[in-house]
Amino acid sequence: MYGNVAVVTALSVALTCAAAAKSIVRVPLPPSNPLKNTEEEKQQKSKPAMVLFSEKQLPSLGRAMAIGYYPRGCLQGGIELPTTGPSWQVMRVSRNRYWGHPELVNFLERFAPLAAKATGWKGILIGDMAQPRGGPLPFGHKSHQIGLDVDIWFMPMPDRVLSAKERENILAPNLVAADGKHINDKIWSSADVAFIRTAAEQPEVERVLVNAAIKKELCRIKSKNDEFWMSKVRPWYGHADHIHVRLKCPTDSPDCRAQPAVPVGDGCDKSLTHWFTDWILRLKIPDASPSPSAKGLTLKDLPPACAAVLNAPANPGSAATDDRSEPR
Ligand SMILES: [Zn+2]
Repeated sequence: MYGNVAVVTALSVALTCAAAAKSIVRVPLPPSNPLKNTEEEKQQKSKPAMVLFSEKQLPSLGRAMAIGYYPRGCLQGGIELPTTGPSWQVMRVSRNRYWGHPELVNFLERFAPLAAKATGWKGILIGDMAQPRGGPLPFGHKSHQIGLDVDIWFMPMPDRVLSAKERENILAPNLVAADGKHINDKIWSSADVAFIRTAAEQPEVERVLVNAAIKKELCRIKSKNDEFWMSKVRPWYGHADHIHVRLKCPTDSPDCRAQPAVPVGDGCDKSLTHWFTDWILRLKIPDASPSPSAKGLTLKDLPPACAAVLNAPANPGSAATDDRSEPR
């Protein structure tokens, strides 16, 4: 008797489950290999990765992950920074490089009012972040590939919303003198120091790259207690009209490769003097030149997960949050 009840109960549970399963609307999963034919796959293998990634207008579906190394990787599930915020505006919007890992977007939304307060500026002007799916860029940078790098201008945000045209054409002031050895003291101010310092003081920031002449000036005016943030401010080519902020690998990104830690100390040592040797000064690498090393990268030079990111369906949700009515 009890046995019969058990059988009937089990049967009814099974029937209920089957009925419930029937009522679920099945959403087709993206194919595991969305490439339809090998011809397409072959083409992808031979094309420069910077062409493939710059063609993608929207981020991939999938949870956010920075994949690979800053100058050799890609970004899954990137999100966009609104091009106009209460204390920031994105410049060169037409490049479609206002995407990043959510940690970068959160950082900028938090940093913009902090920087405004520290400098007395109305806000900050944001240059390149990453392409929607990261990857190598056709011009301008070797890094910025995994959604954790951002350029921020040495220029206060004006007290109005810039037009689309202005955002394409306004130039940031060059803070370095023509000889490349000194800052341009006609336009350099204590606000620039506060700006760099505030960026370097943020815990998620791994490095802040500036022109060597700017680092040299910071070394000249530093005080004893500045070592913690000064160690993160590193000299690099260009970067005379903007700072380059790089975030640490986020905890949700196991395939993100960390950069070696910055050396101990404030960096005001021999490693800095090296930047003022004649042959380095003569290099004068402009920020916007195409990077030869990024140019040569193909899909197989990137982590294997980047092929899946490139071919994944687009996240349609990201287009809905994009306010095209804003001046861009
Ligand atoms: Zn940069």
